[in-house]
Amino acid sequence: MYLIEQLFDSHCVGCSAWGAMVCDTCVGRFTAMPHRTFTSRGIPLVALGIYRGGLRALILAAKHRSAHAAIRRLGGALRDAALAWGNVIAIPVPSSRPGFLARGYGLGSTIARAAELDVANCLLMDDVGTQRGRHRIERLQRNIRVGSRRPPNGSRVVIVDDVMTTGASIDAATDACVTAGLRVVGVLVVAIATQRAIAPLTI
Ligand SMILES: [Zn+2]
Repeated sequence: MYLIEQLFDSHCVGCSAWGAMVCDTCVGRFTAMPHRTFTSRGIPLVALGIYRGGLRALILAAKHRSAHAAIRRLGGALRDAALAWGNVIAIPVPSSRPGFLARGYGLGSTIARAAELDVANCLLMDDVGTQRGRHRIERLQRNIRVGSRRPPNGSRVVIVDDVMTTGASIDAATDACVTAGLRVVGVLVVAIATQRAIAPLTI
């Protein structure tokens, strides 16, 4: 039954129209207004849109149903967003969610490949648990590091993640890359949380 549902019950995650996992109209809607800002580390960030509505539904579907095909439908927009950086290596932010080892690197690698960037899965993150707030951020910063499968010193790299919410994971990834001698020239995310979009330069 589940397999039959997967094969035949196909609706757009954005508008519920029957057919493609993300319909052409929604792909256009999600990517019409890329959002450009800076992280708290001063790194230029591009998001395809705000983390709400259909774009949020798409990311949640990709996360929870392993529907990475939905992310690949955004490939054109992701490629356009990454063009300005030229020749860079994408470094996905590893998942800090418990059990991430079972799912590998989650969406970051899929997003980077959809943008047709070279990918280095060199960031390692120990499980920092589900707690929130200051302690979690401190543990994030302590537990993320560049592993052995890393680009050469001085390489221009772009940090890639699905959503930027507080920015803590992206900042920790940036710091780990800089410490390891890499040049972080940008951050690419599918969506940015609204509060960051409204006040991007408060820090
Ligand atoms: Zn749609």
